Amino acid sequence: MTLTLQDCRDRDAQDLLRPLRDLFSLPAGQIYLDGNSLGAAPKATAARVASVVQNEWSQDLIASWNKAGWVDLPLRLGNQFAPWLGAGQDEVVFTDTTSINLFKVLTAAARIAAEDGPARKKLLTERSNFPTDLYIAQSVCQQHGLELVLLEPEEILPALDDDAAVLLLTHVNYRTGAMHDMEQITAAAHAHRILCVWDLCHSAGAVPVDLRGANADFAVGCGYKYLNGGPGAPAFVWAHPRVVNRCWQPLTGWFGHAAPFQFTPGYAPAEGIRRYLCGTQPIISLSALQCGLDVFSATEALGGMQALRAKSLALTDLFIRLVEERCQGHGLGLATPLHHAQRGSQVCLTRDEGLGLDGQGSGAYAIIQALIARGVVGDFRQGDGGLGRHKDILRFGFTPLYVGFEDVWNAVEQLRQVLASGEWREPRFHQRQAVT
Ligand SMILES: *Cc1c(COP(=O)(O)O)cnc(C)c1O
Repeated sequence: MTLTLQDCRDRDAQDLLRPLRDLFSLPAGQIYLDGNSLGAAPKATAARVASVVQNEWSQDLIASWNKAGWVDLPLRLGNQFAPWLGAGQDEVVFTDTTSINLFKVLTAAARIAAEDGPARKKLLTERSNFPTDLYIAQSVCQQHGLELVLLEPEEILPALDDDAAVLLLTHVNYRTGAMHDMEQITAAAHAHRILCVWDLCHSAGAVPVDLRGANADFAVGCGYKYLNGGPGAPAFVWAHPRVVNRCWQPLTGWFGHAAPFQFTPGYAPAEGIRRYLCGTQPIISLSALQCGLDVFSATEALGGMQALRAKSLALTDLFIRLVEERCQGHGLGLATPLHHAQRGSQVCLTRDEGLGLDGQGSGAYAIIQALIARGVVGDFRQGDGGLGRHKDILRFGFTPLYVGFEDVWNAVEQLRQVLASGEWREPRFHQRQAVT
C-alpha cells in the first residue's frame, strides 16, 4: 500500500513532540531540513540575548561575572547537557569551537599515549571524516611525530593494533549519516590500549549517546547543529575522569588555570574538565546556546531522547520510503544505512555521475538549489567525481524537534517535481556560492 498525504497528517496529529515546533522561530512556508548544518533559532533566544546585553552587560557590567554567574556558564551548560551525552556532572564544558576542542583532546591523547607506550606511532581515523577533523589531526601528528592513517569504515576494526596511539572517529558521518557502534569500537580499541576520541557533531541532540557506557576517553561536539545554539555557537568537550587530569591540554590559557584570578606567573591546570577552557568565554554566545539546550530540557517531560530518537527514525524511514515510491528513475540512490542502529538523524541521497547538464557531473548541486528555491532546504556535499567511492550527495537533516511528517511528504513531492520537470537544469540553479 502506498502512503498518502493524509497518512502523514495523521501521524502529525498523533505526534506528542509536535508542540515543540512552537518553541522555534522558522520562516513561514519553508521546510527546513538543514538542522544538521545550522539548527533553527529557538524563540527564546532573541529575548535572552537582548536581556544579557541590556540587563547584565549594560547595567551590571563587570559585576555580572559573579552576579549573573557568567564565570560558571561553560560548566553550568555542560552540566545541563551532560545527561544527554551519558556524561557525569562536572565532566563537560561548552567552549571554543569543535576544531579547537579537537586540537586540545587529540593533543592530550597523544601526550598520554606517548607516556604509556612511546612506540605507538599511529593516529587512526576515517578517510571520510569531516575535513576539519582531518586537518586538525594532521597538525597534531606533525607535532607529535605520529603517522596519520586514513581508513575506510570496514578497515577500522582490522587496523586496531599495538602500534596505534589514538583512534579518532566521528560517530555519525556527515556525508552519509552512517553511525558507528561506539561501544563496540571503543572496546576493540581499548583491547590494544588505544585512546578513543569521538566527534559527536552529528550525534549530540540527534541520537542517544552514552559516553560513560561506551567507556570512551574523549569527546567533542557542536553547539550550532542539533543543539540549536546559533551560528558559531560554543562547542563542547568531555574527557573521561580517568584521563582528564593526566596531562595539560595544549592551550594553557588563564581560564583553564586552577586559580585564574590569583594572577600567578606559573601555569597550574584546574582539576577536571575546567582545564579545557582557554581564554575569556563568549558570554553572549553561551547565553544563546542555553536557549537551545533549554529546548532539550523541555523534551524530558515528553520522553526525552527516547522519544526524539523514535520520531527521528520514523521521519527518516518515511523519507526513504517516499523517495523510493515517488522519485524512481532519476538516478537517485541511498547513502544512508537502512538499519536503524547504523543511522543518524539525516538521509543522504546519492546521484549518479553523468546525469548533470550535458552529461557532466551529477546535477545534485542544482537539484538542491532548485529545492531551496521551492522552500525545501537541504544541502549538497560534493563527491569525488566518479574517481573513488563517493558520489555527490543530497543531504537532508531531520530534526524531530521541529520537522513533521507532512513536511516529509511535501519535501519529497517538491523533489519529485524538480526531477520530473527538469527544472534543476535552469542556469540559475548552477551558480556556485561560497557556502554550500
Ligand atoms: C560541523 C562539524 C565540525 C565543525 O567544526 P567547527 O570547528 O565548528 O567549524 C567538525 N567536525 C564535524 C564532524 C562536524 O560535523
